[in-house]
Amino acid sequence: MKRLVLIGGGHSHVEVIRRIGMRPSPGLHVTLVSPQRHTPYSGMLPGLVAGHYDYAECHIDLQALCAAACVDWVADAAAGLDLPRRTCTLQSGAGIGYDIVSLDIGSAPPPDRQAPRPGREIGIKPTETFLGWWDDLRVRARVRPLRLLVVGGGAGGIEMTLAMQHRLQSEGARATFSIATMERSILAGHPPGVRRRFARVLQARGIGVLTGARVTHLDAGGAWLDSGAQLEADGVVWALGPVAAQWPGRAGLATNERGFVLVDRHLRSISHPEVFAAGDIATMRERAHPKSGVYAVRHGPPLAENLRRTLAGEKLVTYSPQRVALALISTGERCAVASWGPLSLHGAWVWRWKDRIDRGFMARYRARPAPS
Ligand SMILES: Cc1cc2nc3c(=O)[nH]c(=O)nc-3n(C[C@H](O)[C@H](O)[C@H](O)COP(=O)(O)OP(=O)(O)OC[C@H]3O[C@@H](n4cnc5c(N)ncnc54)[C@H](O)[C@@H]3O)c2cc1C
Repeated sequence: MKRLVLIGGGHSHVEVIRRIGMRPSPGLHVTLVSPQRHTPYSGMLPGLVAGHYDYAECHIDLQALCAAACVDWVADAAAGLDLPRRTCTLQSGAGIGYDIVSLDIGSAPPPDRQAPRPGREIGIKPTETFLGWWDDLRVRARVRPLRLLVVGGGAGGIEMTLAMQHRLQSEGARATFSIATMERSILAGHPPGVRRRFARVLQARGIGVLTGARVTHLDAGGAWLDSGAQLEADGVVWALGPVAAQWPGRAGLATNERGFVLVDRHLRSISHPEVFAAGDIATMRERAHPKSGVYAVRHGPPLAENLRRTLAGEKLVTYSPQRVALALISTGERCAVASWGPLSLHGAWVWRWKDRIDRGFMARYRARPAPS
């Protein structure tokens, strides 16, 4: 009996599990290690925060998905890999042996933000923690006006800011928002048309944007910038770019300088052929591409195929990332901006288009979990 261990129930592994269910391999035992039963679909998270979706609409029930595919779900987090012994060690102290292991663990909180002070500051990842903080904040914002600072001017930070503001306003709560980014402009990496549209939206909504501003530390009054200025804030949301968990590198896997697992064109570790990685945690050595849910989803089919082929001793397929990915970024209400190469489009119809794509994705993993 061959043992395949999947670590993390991210966007790529849900497709691997679905395909295992559609095409079971006799003589293969598959285990998913995931601390959570419900895994969020990133594309719909801002819509959940804005109040357009409920929890079940944008979470995949891993327990149900695994049960349907005859995959064992272990409710635990991986803490390390013993590569010579081919064993994954879990936070509970247990170990799981494997012949092949695959990592799809997303991004980690930055090392200096691993234990944020509850209430005062929060990271957008891990999502469960953020959603708990958000529910609490909505209650607090009904009692007194709040000043909120989002640190990070990328698509995630801006989309989340607009979603939070929309929800609080629709609930009659009062809050002011500002965004601080160390970049020279918001949405660096997106075309000028997209940046201009969001600058207009943010200005129209009264959201202040501070560019070239690095937050160095927080205190009781708010956030301090490297310029020495202070931004008053009752709550700070960290929406920084992807950060790699440290344990894969510590285990001895080849990583880049930021700790992301280096993989080849087959999504296989360049140092350990029995290890695969996909989604945010993986960086392709030959053709690194941006880290986003779009790419993590695209990794799913070639990863599933290559795990199967490795176990069958067959030639692996090559994954070629698309050169340009479509980003559909919502603006709080049921409106969105499409960013594709140099192009940008805006309107309620873009949101409906995004909604159809997102609901179509979720329908593949249909399960209606109750909030845990
Ligand atoms: C606010 C926000 C909005 C975004 N919107 C978009 C968008 O519209 N479109 C887009 O393309 N991208 C978007 N992104 C980026 C997107 O969220 C990530 O790129 C995507 O989630 C990465 O998918 P993944 O499969 O790598 O990991 P994830 O989907 O993050 O899943 C990783 C899973 O692994 C689990 N895990 C972590 N550590 C361990 C461990 N040690 N052991 C076991 N399990 C573990 C986690 O619990 C989680 O379930 C957004 C990000 C944010 C923050």
